[in-house]
Amino acid sequence: MDRFDLVILGSGSTAFAAALRAEELGKTVVMTEERMIGGTCVNRGCLPSKNLIEAARLLHDAQHPRYPGLSPAQPKLDFARLVAQKDEVIHDYRRNRYESLIGDSIRVENGHVRFLDPHTVEVGGKRIEGEKILVATGARPVMPPTDGLAEVPYLTSDLLTSDEPLELAELPPSLLIVGGGYIALELGQMFRRFGSEVTVLERSEEILSRGYEPEVGPTVRVILEDEGVRFVRGATVRSVRRNGSGVVATVETSKGVEEHRAARLLVATGRRPNSDQIELEKAGVSVADNGQIRVDRYLRTNVPHIFAAGDVIGSETASQMATPVGSHDGGIAAHNALSNEGLRAVDHRVVPRTIFTDPQVAVVGLTEEEAVAAGYSCWCNTLPMSLVPRAGAIRDTRGIVKMVADAKTDEVLGVSMVAPNAGEVIHEAAMALRFRARLQDFIDQLHVYPTMAEALKIVAISRFKDPYKLSCCAE
Ligand SMILES: Cc1cc2nc3c(=O)[nH]c(=O)nc-3n(C[C@H](O)[C@H](O)[C@H](O)COP(=O)(O)OP(=O)(O)OC[C@H]3O[C@@H](n4cnc5c(N)ncnc54)[C@H](O)[C@@H]3O)c2cc1C
Repeated sequence: MDRFDLVILGSGSTAFAAALRAEELGKTVVMTEERMIGGTCVNRGCLPSKNLIEAARLLHDAQHPRYPGLSPAQPKLDFARLVAQKDEVIHDYRRNRYESLIGDSIRVENGHVRFLDPHTVEVGGKRIEGEKILVATGARPVMPPTDGLAEVPYLTSDLLTSDEPLELAELPPSLLIVGGGYIALELGQMFRRFGSEVTVLERSEEILSRGYEPEVGPTVRVILEDEGVRFVRGATVRSVRRNGSGVVATVETSKGVEEHRAARLLVATGRRPNSDQIELEKAGVSVADNGQIRVDRYLRTNVPHIFAAGDVIGSETASQMATPVGSHDGGIAAHNALSNEGLRAVDHRVVPRTIFTDPQVAVVGLTEEEAVAAGYSCWCNTLPMSLVPRAGAIRDTRGIVKMVADAKTDEVLGVSMVAPNAGEVIHEAAMALRFRARLQDFIDQLHVYPTMAEALKIVAISRFKDPYKLSCCAE
């Protein structure tokens, strides 16, 4: 039997960050993987989606120039070629950022991994013992218990993968998407821009109704509707069935029962931690009802030598299922498992997030509702992006910016933006929250004119002055 200082279940971004930290500490480490090395982000998540979303944006912008004087163009779309270039990008990235790091000190074992006892796992018929163990098995799409789902062909977010049969190589003429979260919105807009008829079936009365400011969902929905994405809200999918080579969904709404048809069905109803297929009970590791592995702020499970990080811990310690969170925490978990230099706690107070629709949705910190629930007396304001000079200058005034501050101290507690490049701008807000900046700090900070980041300054100014009566970048 092989023995390692650290055995890591999984080989995603969380696992790699931990393996690199273990290597820095001079320890022996092995990762285990049953699919593609590198995990979700590089193979079927962030990288392929952002690659194709940008291609869809270029196509859309060519077809819909915002400037009088530019006439629409019709670039020829070769979907199969687009998919192939996406695969090239994934292969390069996987080779350079993941596979090339594997060697004598970081090993990988292929196959399904499961616990045999608290110190031993089995993978591909091999038994491996770990002094310390990190569970970083990520998450997978949740399948709702919908009648007929097992009998119809359906897609999941795995459709973006490469080198696996789940990859979607042909553009569907029409697509029904169950779920209205970030994956549904990103992929829904993307497929619409490539030319598919897209219908989103959302259970709540509004998209993004949980965890986002109430202004965000309607703003994004109206923008996507303008592009032709159809939303059916308050929709409970009762059943699905085949319709020739396509699919019919029977949906209950407040208006009654409706049927929606499409060539393909995409189920995007969330993701659940991969904690149920690794026989955690043999190690005695405690798991919450929704499948997330319970950890403390040092990423320790209830079993002292077993740690967990990344998507598999879900929202434990206020974590979020996102690559930078897992990568950051993977390093911390390895440090805490292997270093003698004292424990490092995770800090999930400031986690900027982005939905890569166009315009992007970017948020950080508390929403108004969360701030009130936390006992703050709040000042907050929402402004249209049309007040931001750059938005007017480039004829793209879609979106809003909202800022939440402590009314007593003016400390900024949260920012939400729907705007072009909001995913870049949000880092200014994130850094400000990290250092507990106040509204005055956003105002005193000189901003490059004209940039979308000025939105933050203008909304901060609106606490003290009428933002509709500002000239240029006057404070
Ligand atoms: C469509 C999509 C788009 C996304 N876009 C973004 C984005 O833009 N930005 C962002 O930050 N995040 C994004 N995410 C989320 C991001 O991909 C994840 O948060 C991140 O990859 C989690 O990393 P991880 O290492 O914790 O898990 P993973 O990367 O999922 O790695 C876990 C690995 O463990 C393996 N595994 C699981 N169980 C076993 C087993 N029993 N035996 C062997 N191997 C096993 C899995 O095959 C997997 O490779 C996106 C996700 C999706 C699906």
